[in-house]
Amino acid sequence: MKLDYSHSELSEIIKGKEINTVPGKITMVIYDTRKMASNRKGVFFALQGKNKSGESFCKDAYDKGCRCFVVTMEVNLPEDAHIIEVSDSLRALQQLAKYHRTQFSIPVIGITGSYGKTTVKEWLYFLLKDEYKICRSPKSYNSQIGVAHSLLTIEEHHDLAIIEADISHPGEMEKLEEIIAPTLGVFTGLGKNYQENFENQKHHLNEHLRLFNSCNFTFISTDYHSVFRRRKINVIETHFSDESWKGLIPINAQFPENRALCFKVAEFLGLSQSILKKKALELPVLPGRMEVFEGINNNIIINDAYNIDIDALEQALEYQFTVQKKPKNIVVLSLFGVGEARRKRILSIVKRHSPDASFVLDQEEELPSELFAIRDATILFKGSFLSGLAEKVKQLKNRKHETWVKFDLNAIKNNLNFLKSCVPHKTKVLVMVKASSYGTGDTQIPYFLQENSIDYFGVAYTDEGATLRENGITLPVLVMNTEDEAFEDMVRHCLEPSIYSLHQLKRFEKFIEEKGLTDYPIHLKFETGMNRLGLDESAIEKVLEILTYSKTIRLKSVFSHLADADNSDQEFTKDQINRFKSVWVTMKDKVGDEVLFHILNSEGVVKFGKTAAFDMVRLGIALFGYTAKKHSSLQPAITWMTTIAQIKTLNEGETIGYARTYTAKKPMRIATLRIGYADGFRRILSNGKGGVYINGVFCPVVGNVCMDMTMVDVTNVDCGAGDEAEIIGEHQSMMDFAKQMQTIPYEVMTGINKRVARLYNG
Ligand SMILES: *Cc1c(COP(=O)(O)O)cnc(C)c1O
Repeated sequence: MKLDYSHSELSEIIKGKEINTVPGKITMVIYDTRKMASNRKGVFFALQGKNKSGESFCKDAYDKGCRCFVVTMEVNLPEDAHIIEVSDSLRALQQLAKYHRTQFSIPVIGITGSYGKTTVKEWLYFLLKDEYKICRSPKSYNSQIGVAHSLLTIEEHHDLAIIEADISHPGEMEKLEEIIAPTLGVFTGLGKNYQENFENQKHHLNEHLRLFNSCNFTFISTDYHSVFRRRKINVIETHFSDESWKGLIPINAQFPENRALCFKVAEFLGLSQSILKKKALELPVLPGRMEVFEGINNNIIINDAYNIDIDALEQALEYQFTVQKKPKNIVVLSLFGVGEARRKRILSIVKRHSPDASFVLDQEEELPSELFAIRDATILFKGSFLSGLAEKVKQLKNRKHETWVKFDLNAIKNNLNFLKSCVPHKTKVLVMVKASSYGTGDTQIPYFLQENSIDYFGVAYTDEGATLRENGITLPVLVMNTEDEAFEDMVRHCLEPSIYSLHQLKRFEKFIEEKGLTDYPIHLKFETGMNRLGLDESAIEKVLEILTYSKTIRLKSVFSHLADADNSDQEFTKDQINRFKSVWVTMKDKVGDEVLFHILNSEGVVKFGKTAAFDMVRLGIALFGYTAKKHSSLQPAITWMTTIAQIKTLNEGETIGYARTYTAKKPMRIATLRIGYADGFRRILSNGKGGVYINGVFCPVVGNVCMDMTMVDVTNVDCGAGDEAEIIGEHQSMMDFAKQMQTIPYEVMTGINKRVARLYNG
């Protein structure tokens, strides 16, 4: 169930007094009007800010289409606003969240502790995401507002919720426990620091433990055994040194205790040993809470501005000073809403690390201009969720990364292993890395593959092979398109030509002879149906004759290429394989055992890997997760993202972009994206032919795609400048996007312009 309550149901749920009643429905909750889309059937909760009452934003929310308001004092709004008065608007928001939570009878995991909550939440998500449809707190939304917000995102299709909770005052956890009503608990531990609002560490601990009052089981580290026993909480204990986790927690791994806890929970929820073993070693580093990205001026930005716990601050500082080694370290704090005593503690902790500079901001302040001049530094941003600092930090992002394509090396490795499992064990693997490895970059993927035990590389042209050699690739490289003019370069870089005619064979042999070389490796390409390049079967006899007498060249492989492997009708492909088999039968005994025969490309491997692999296969697109039909064992490895440069509001009748091909039929909100046809986001996507996902919602292109920018309709989407837009990723697959551009994944991949930043993670 998406949020879907009528105005009167809402009044009843939050037990408010209806000041003005207007029939209507709410489908979302709003408490920050800055990022609000227009035309929202939302309810605005006027929460108390530091300097301003929430009520002062009611008009803004009304102007953006909101017609339902929860307030604590009189407000002046037009007649068609449904107004509910309550004594405490935050409490009312929580009551709604609590009610919403009770609509679902799914397991809800509640996580607390003074550190590691977000890490544990993200790890659990990573471990269980293929087994469960999980709703989890966004980022580090663990405060009184954040928890309510998180719970309100539970929808009907979810079958597990993971919610983190944090407190800064006595009494708060009781409220969170009431609304989360967790069925399972996870306690991440208590650091040496406690918040100044608590009397002592024990007091702080006891308050945390209230979350687990009615949990069926709470997962804890054995270290906390006695504390929990005294409180009579049902626990399931584990310890990172337990025999069960042997080999799953690398020495020096971050947070070994919390890793063990996550494994225990995952096991409890039915994750198989084999999957656990595989995923345990791939837990993402520093997930969720801390965002680390390249900033302007060669800075590294650590954006940890979603909470201001003291332990998390220490962790972030430690990360900044030990992991990120830059000549300078800068700390930016937003201490909005932080009490005097805590403020002092925070400042003294920061001081202890002696950063080169530190800045302290208050709520509404813009970032100090000095920050924009800093270079070669690691800059840590730390502030509470309400400070809005996390948003402001985006201004310091490196422009170059405003549009980027990311390659997931773990997925590529998984795909390689899967494809290897499709062919007999001894089959060799050649990977085609032509066109800069299908547009992924000149050398990163080849280098990664070379480390992951493949046997051969293939490229289209000699220059591409030369680039590989210049960048430390030492595996043999097969060049598909052999040009006479490139013989010299071919030999200089130890590249191996594919020979596709008798004339070419003779010319190359002569060239090698003149060079005074012997035993130079070559490959023969045969025609079996592609009708592009290749020797005819009838040439075999002549070829063998030349090879038998030649001392200068040595045959390494014989191959052909499939023309129609993607077709679900396999007749033509089978016919090609048979024609190749006949070449194999004729040649095999005469050329010797070392000569490798190969015909299968990616698609061929998936369909005929068990029967027609011969001695080697040539992989390409499937390494990135793509085959003609989506294959469940292949993981998509590519994410393509851009960002919003600006949001505009249009009146009815205004037009958008070059040639004014789109006219607003009603007032609308559009976002200008930092991507255009020069990036490979082709012009054919104009005017609704294509689109992107922003915050999980599809946004069609409006107007013509420009060279460097594109406008999309975000009238119904909550978003702001700096937000990310997904071109290919979780919501929009490569296949879907390729269809919008009326092409195939190969062309999408190789069409992404060089100016788009390439990121590799793994
Ligand atoms: C590109 C190419 C491949 C790989 O094709 P995929 O469909 O990407 O697997 C194999 N062999 C030759 C000759 C190629 O040109």
